[in-house]
Amino acid sequence: MENRLGQHAIVIGGSLAGLMTARVLADHFDKVTILERDEIDDNPAIHKSIPQGNHLHALLLGGQQVMSSLYPDFTNGMDRLGAVRFRAGIGAAFYLPDGKAYSVLGSVRHPYDLGFDIFCQSRGLLEHCVRQCTLELTNVSFESGCPVQSLIYEDARVQGVRCSRPDGGDYLSADLVVDAGGRGSRAPRWLRNIGFGVPEETTIGVDFAYSSTKFRIPDSYDEPEKLLVFNGPPPDHPKGAFMEEIEDRTWHLTLFGRFGEYPPTDEDGFYAFAQALHTPKLYDLIKDAERVAEIVHFRFPTSVLRHYEHLTAFPEGFLVLGDAISSFNPVYGQGMSSAAMQVKALQQLLTERAAGSDGLDGLAMAFFPKAAEVVAAPWTLAANADFAYPQTKGERPPDARESRHYFGALFGLTGEDMEVYKLVAEVFQLAKPLSALREEPLRSRVEARLRS
Ligand SMILES: Cc1cc2nc3c(=O)[nH]c(=O)nc-3n(C[C@H](O)[C@H](O)[C@H](O)COP(=O)(O)OP(=O)(O)OC[C@H]3O[C@@H](n4cnc5c(N)ncnc54)[C@H](O)[C@@H]3O)c2cc1C
Repeated sequence: MENRLGQHAIVIGGSLAGLMTARVLADHFDKVTILERDEIDDNPAIHKSIPQGNHLHALLLGGQQVMSSLYPDFTNGMDRLGAVRFRAGIGAAFYLPDGKAYSVLGSVRHPYDLGFDIFCQSRGLLEHCVRQCTLELTNVSFESGCPVQSLIYEDARVQGVRCSRPDGGDYLSADLVVDAGGRGSRAPRWLRNIGFGVPEETTIGVDFAYSSTKFRIPDSYDEPEKLLVFNGPPPDHPKGAFMEEIEDRTWHLTLFGRFGEYPPTDEDGFYAFAQALHTPKLYDLIKDAERVAEIVHFRFPTSVLRHYEHLTAFPEGFLVLGDAISSFNPVYGQGMSSAAMQVKALQQLLTERAAGSDGLDGLAMAFFPKAAEVVAAPWTLAANADFAYPQTKGERPPDARESRHYFGALFGLTGEDMEVYKLVAEVFQLAKPLSALREEPLRSRVEARLRS
């Protein structure tokens, strides 16, 4: 192997971040083993540790682009499995208190082709597609039903993991171990156990809840939009809903609410919540539709950001990524794309390492600042939106007020200039850097609007 960095790498967690990580490690290690504690069947279903998969999972363009770059067959795979595509700017409608729009804050009132496709699918289908693409690599293996208990730390580096393997084995050695164990990652505990510091955390108390179910789409439904959003501007609209067409002519509906205004799980309460939204549209669509899934609930009290990039020491042979670093308020649909973009940053770093002489030495300390850069944009976008609600708990960024004014004026421009609308959409889809919204000549135009 030309770009070899080691013999064996282990990935803890076989969900999205873990699968994509295995994909990029496979270019540099003879063998990559994914250890996943859940029993996972080879079908597009969710597994025990992914309860969030019962709720609508939007894949932003930024994540889709990374997945397409990692897996040449990704979009074909999504099509084959039955994911639904729509044209961004045309196929999503926003039902706002003042009527129907094609942008989230209502500045765009007519469909406008933004030039890219968005996929709608269940979380199970997406993960299945990524798993199939990853396991086509002959040097990647997947062990399900295999929880990792701890790191093996000897001779000043992580040498492998202790785990319960289905074949009865209880450890596995490796040159590199990557923890993609999700929000509940045990990495902080494992680090403490082997004498290292743990990352500080920033949290934002968003106090959010989802209740979701699925419906068979009635044959009579003939509207062109695939994704319907029912919300209103903060801070007066803590409640809302998303409904999208996913595989098998199914609507996936997620009702959401903050600060105690949570969507219920009982059938009557669920329908009543939908009926009480600011528009009758959603209730009219679902009231006679056949419900084909249970109503499931998810509470999301806090967004969490773990500052691995601030640590001054970290064990060699170990890395952490995905939700284990940053877990975002799900309403902005950023988590999977953030994980994908962290993996992309790792891929770039591994390519550089393979071309140089450092090998795996100091890999984590080089990776964490890059991961922090990736995470900064979605975290800032989400934090700005969440702190528009006075009840949100946490330290407000010092420039929160200035940002709110700047973005308010910028969103105003999106109604007048479709190029600005496209740029803003691409930034919020994590496909362009956040800094693009502050660059000239756009900045001067926004500032002029603020002064007028
Ligand atoms: C309600 C809700 C809705 C969401 N909606 C969206 C959305 O619309 N769009 C979006 O992009 N994101 C969304 N997200 C976020 C998204 O689900 C996560 O960002 C994504 O799943 C992160 O992937 P991950 O692989 O890092 O972690 P996870 O998906 O949490 O996977 C971690 C995996 O590691 C395994 N594991 C953990 N510990 C061990 C261990 N010790 N040994 C072995 N295996 C282990 C687990 O079993 C699991 O399979 C949502 C989240 C929530 C809560």
